[in-house]
Amino acid sequence: MTKAYDYDLFVIGAGSGGVRASRIAAAHGARVAVAEEYRVGGTCVIRGCVPKKLFVYASQFSEEFEDAEGYGWTVGETSFSWAKLLANKDREIDRLNGIYIRNLENSGVKIFQSRAVLKDAHTVHLVAEDRDVTADKILIATGGTPFKPASVPGIEHAITSNEAFHLDELPSHGIVVGGGYIAVEFAGIFNGLGVETTLMYRREKILRNFDEDLRDGLMEEMQKKGVDLRVNTDIASIERKGKTLIATLRDGSTIETGFIMYATGRVPNSHGLGLEELGVKLKKNGAIEVDPFSQTHVPNIYAVGDVTDRVALTPIAIREGQAFAETVFNNNPIAVDHSIIPTAVFSQPELGTVGLSEHEAREKFGDANVDVYKTSFRPMKHTMTGRHEKTFMKLVVDAKTDKVLGVHMMGSGSGETIQTVGIAVTFGATKKQFDQTVAVHPTAAEELVTLKQKWAPPAAKAAD
Ligand code: FAD
Repeated sequence: MTKAYDYDLFVIGAGSGGVRASRIAAAHGARVAVAEEYRVGGTCVIRGCVPKKLFVYASQFSEEFEDAEGYGWTVGETSFSWAKLLANKDREIDRLNGIYIRNLENSGVKIFQSRAVLKDAHTVHLVAEDRDVTADKILIATGGTPFKPASVPGIEHAITSNEAFHLDELPSHGIVVGGGYIAVEFAGIFNGLGVETTLMYRREKILRNFDEDLRDGLMEEMQKKGVDLRVNTDIASIERKGKTLIATLRDGSTIETGFIMYATGRVPNSHGLGLEELGVKLKKNGAIEVDPFSQTHVPNIYAVGDVTDRVALTPIAIREGQAFAETVFNNNPIAVDHSIIPTAVFSQPELGTVGLSEHEAREKFGDANVDVYKTSFRPMKHTMTGRHEKTFMKLVVDAKTDKVLGVHMMGSGSGETIQTVGIAVTFGATKKQFDQTVAVHPTAAEELVTLKQKWAPPAAKAAD
């Protein structure tokens, strides 16, 4: 580390990855500064995971009120205030934003409230202050931004998840476009809050890359809950008439709606930072190319999190930020392992997944070498509510080694459960070890350690 520069490390972006990297580097004695152009905390805290989950909680009450009757409760007339939810959510986000700022300051990190761009490999220009600062190492942790297809006429009338967190009012009808986890989660949120919701996706099934049973199961359950799911279709154009938006679909049909939210992917925030001019290589989609230690093609410039488009999840950005700081400022080289990542989709019902899908396992090991165990049942709670919601669980097992390759769940609490099951899968637990684990009764998750019957495709069963 050299005093020839103002800082040992300058981090651009105070989101999940940038904040973790800043704090760990400072803890190892580095002089660290971070620039943030919007709000400290980044996407996850300010307009991602956290407010999204708060909205999910809010939207679940409508079903809870209905279900309560089966257990003897009489729920009086209910009403919902979007304005109150927004105000309470904003207060909580302000609180978290304050904690993030204090944590950085208490770690000795200097915060610049400004957009930052690179002038050369060691010089950062602070746009808001119109001045330069220098640093030995630079970390790009600028995250991603929602994508809206510019080719759709009238696209300027559509919103993204960014604006969905601040809608002035909640219209009676809304369209969510996309098939990824953010689209699916927001469709559930709006539907639960009483908005007639259309989820529109241009392919055949939502949640590409997830296990097929989860994809099919969630589509069925979302429709049962009243989401108007339209696949193999897309919006051709959007027109505004007063407060109403008119979406014209590819087949010429139209839908009148109050809002159209695009959740059709996110693009890395890498443009306009001066990176290409310096020789930092970007992929076609703008993702910064890095080695396993998050180093770019310019040796003193590193990048972590969504801007590298490895796996766009908060815990991964945090790990990459931590690994970078350990590698560069503590002489402790760490490459983040992206191979097994437990993750949840806060859809309704919720999904939890870790490891290989059945399809991936069959492709990797061959049909004969993959055993599948699965179960689908009505959860105990709903035996008294009359709600026809299914819980689903599946284990994908390596037939040769007995190792559990993947676990896939749909149903209440799947996110919580998959975090714990993720430990077993990460450390290579076998199906026999799952079976040796004592069940917790009565829970839904006990099925994971009591699955006995190997599943066979219907054709094979018929041949038995
Ligand atoms: P970010 O957190 O995006 O931080 C980047 C920061 O850089 C931003 O604050 C931005 O303002 C700032 N910035 C950008 N350019 C500049 C510049 N030039 N100068 C200064 N500052 C700049 N992940 C999960 O794990 N679980 C979830 O449930 C989940 N839900 C999500 C829901 C939504 C609606 C969205 C959008 C995302 C969700 N994610 C979730 C993903 C998660 O938010 C991201 O993976 C994570 O925030 C990535 O962290 P990051 O540090 O790479 O970037």
